Amino acid sequence: MAIVYNYGTGNYKNWVVTENSFNPEYLGKFETIFSLGNGFMGLRAAAEEHYINETRGFYIAGLYDQFPGEVPELVNVPDLIGVEIILAGELFNLKVGKIISYNRRLNLKDGQLIREIKWQSPKGNITRLIFRRFVSIVNLHIAALQIKIVPLNYSGTLKIKSGIDARITNRGIQHLIEEDKGVISGENLYMVFNTLQSNIVLAIATKHKFSLNDKNLELEKREIESKKRQFYLNVEYEVEKEKKFLIDKIITVYTSRDFKFMDDKKNKDLRKTILDGTLECLNKTRGLGYRELFEQHKKHWNKLWKQMDIQIRGVDFDQLAIRFAQFHLIQMTPTNDTEISVAAKGLSGEGYRGHIFWDTEIFILPFFIYKFPKIARNLLLYRYHTLDGAHKKAREYGWKGAMYPWESIDSGEETTPKYIDWDIKTGKSIRIWCGEIEQHITSDIAYAIWHYFVATLDYDFMFNYAIEIFFETARFWASRIEYNKEKERYEINDVIGPDEYSEHVNNNAYTNYLVKWHLNKALEIAAWLQTSKPEIWNNIVRKTRLRVEELMDWDDKVNKIYTHLDKESGLIYQFDGFTDKKDIDLSAFRGRVGLMVKKTGWEEVNNSKVLKQADVVMLMFLLRDQYSQKVKESNWSFYEPRTLHDSSLSFSVHSIIATDINRLEEAYEYFVKAAKIDIGEDMKSSDDGLHAASLGGIWLAVINGFAGIKVSSNKLVIDPKLPERWENLKFNIIWRGDRYNFEIDKNKIRVEYSSLKNKKSVLNILGKSVSLQSNKELIVNFN
Ligand code: BGC
Ligand code: BGC
Repeated sequence: MAIVYNYGTGNYKNWVVTENSFNPEYLGKFETIFSLGNGFMGLRAAAEEHYINETRGFYIAGLYDQFPGEVPELVNVPDLIGVEIILAGELFNLKVGKIISYNRRLNLKDGQLIREIKWQSPKGNITRLIFRRFVSIVNLHIAALQIKIVPLNYSGTLKIKSGIDARITNRGIQHLIEEDKGVISGENLYMVFNTLQSNIVLAIATKHKFSLNDKNLELEKREIESKKRQFYLNVEYEVEKEKKFLIDKIITVYTSRDFKFMDDKKNKDLRKTILDGTLECLNKTRGLGYRELFEQHKKHWNKLWKQMDIQIRGVDFDQLAIRFAQFHLIQMTPTNDTEISVAAKGLSGEGYRGHIFWDTEIFILPFFIYKFPKIARNLLLYRYHTLDGAHKKAREYGWKGAMYPWESIDSGEETTPKYIDWDIKTGKSIRIWCGEIEQHITSDIAYAIWHYFVATLDYDFMFNYAIEIFFETARFWASRIEYNKEKERYEINDVIGPDEYSEHVNNNAYTNYLVKWHLNKALEIAAWLQTSKPEIWNNIVRKTRLRVEELMDWDDKVNKIYTHLDKESGLIYQFDGFTDKKDIDLSAFRGRVGLMVKKTGWEEVNNSKVLKQADVVMLMFLLRDQYSQKVKESNWSFYEPRTLHDSSLSFSVHSIIATDINRLEEAYEYFVKAAKIDIGEDMKSSDDGLHAASLGGIWLAVINGFAGIKVSSNKLVIDPKLPERWENLKFNIIWRGDRYNFEIDKNKIRVEYSSLKNKKSVLNILGKSVSLQSNKELIVNFN
């Protein structure tokens, strides 16, 4: 197999994901899973040398642009990773000559990608090459690479071409206008660009340092090469056999989004300021090479791991997988930008065009709520900053309040494409309705806000931002739901639920139940503010112009929203008429993502009793408390066999519900499936980028599933059910500002709680209320 999990040893055991042979047919897989990032920028792991079918990708969070006739997308910015290496007259490339040894590995603990190669050229020259790179987590505007070249059986001229290549596109679409370029101090290169439509300025600068056997080299043979959209430093050096020639390349990047405080119309100097910032950042690294910058970066990663590491004893792969998931969750999430959120593929690829979905609030946010609550707050503030877009969308459809877009970017406007792909049966593009009718996202966001608040008690966030979102979105639903006179109930018709394989359905259970929860919570919050926080209440009323009659209207409607549940069987129909659809044999399509759509066409999929992903099962996860074991069991039994898991969001949620109904083997199987989406055997699953929601889902499956952490009646609950193969699970979470360390094994739970403000805390452990004292360990035994 191309991926090896057990490369790391000693302190690095279960910290290293490795590719142990060069696989030109799997370039996309490794470009994605080995991508590096820091929430500000993300770099796909394309090689320094070029290969056919590579996808060089370098993305900056929030840098979107729209090409005529297309929806806006995350711009693929110029390449700085490409370096041309000519060794004694022969171009280094693994497609020719002979690979004597090859190893590329992602070190999760230190945040570094390393590639070690021994290569024999067609003429028989053997060279050892070691490539390293990182994207700094200390200074978000810095990335660096290092190349070590050691000729093993020859001496000769080494020629290097390295700089900025702006011939990069998003699948052929060029989003950047080249505006300026220049050289500072005779060697540092910079280029400035402007996006076509969104008018964002991007400045990139880079400098090189060369050394031989650890001694700095001032190369005499160096020249700048400038072509349209290309800017390079070319150097030459006569290198002797066995000498170590080293190139350090430091890269700095800024965009006008980093200078949001400057109004670009009034400020003519914006371009200059951005460029100055970029060059100053580069300048500050003076004297520091790759190694020094990397040491700072590594230290920070090690510190982050101290805060977030989850330790699983029993199965090495599972240990590695949870680390891989957390590593990428950190890499893809903006840490201090409240006007942008996480894309469905993070910053690792162009799948879903860099758009932001419910994936963030429902699958990714919980990790941050319980580990880095400030970042969770920022992610939710993004929805506050895009409230205007949500108002606009509601208005366009003739509804009130705020309706969030299914796919969103920095502007908060709906960006779902109306057509994609091509249908085998009709010969036409497939019409995508999600942007119009996949509306549950509006309640998903409200749900996430409440979850964050309960776990953090961040009143400031609640009073100044969140309640406004809550009320405006509740207002939307109150105008959206439809009264069915005959049945004397409110309905939500013509929607798409989480399972996108059924479109234009009426009364999708997930949507209806969540909207009911949403309106109830809005009323509860209103009552709380009115009685306990009159000042806040008055402010909110002023801001949202909420009227008492509206509250009465919500109150009247909420109990009449139709929610289906068959009392006898416990079954919830996914939507009206689900059971009338055609039963089909799914065996040919199982485990082969998207095959059914390709083979049978979209219409057949829509007419069959088949689910793309968890829908009612998803609902049971969000409102976990509300459904009995029996209800969960009967819905699992009905829907699970009909689910294709053609969305990566499905496995982790199935794992969690399976733990609830004590199907522990299945829970574990589903966990492994989720864990393998990006780093499993399927070498074609990740070409377009990481499955961000699924990575969040892996964390959910461990913490909410096996560890059994839940929130019930606003209290923290722990009710673990470890998989048979796990001996021990150790993790910590932050709950309301205090840290809780847990260690779980087959028959005991050890809890240690530490707080700066409180001496005591109460937890619900295995169904019993237990008091904890700060800094004292408590052990609960169970069978
Ligand atoms: C996804 C939708 C998305 C659409 C367009 C589909 O494959 O399932 O959620 O809105 O692509 O991006
Ligand atoms: C899923 C959606 C998801 C989207 C982005 C689609 O395939 O059906 O639920 O939000 O992908 O990950």
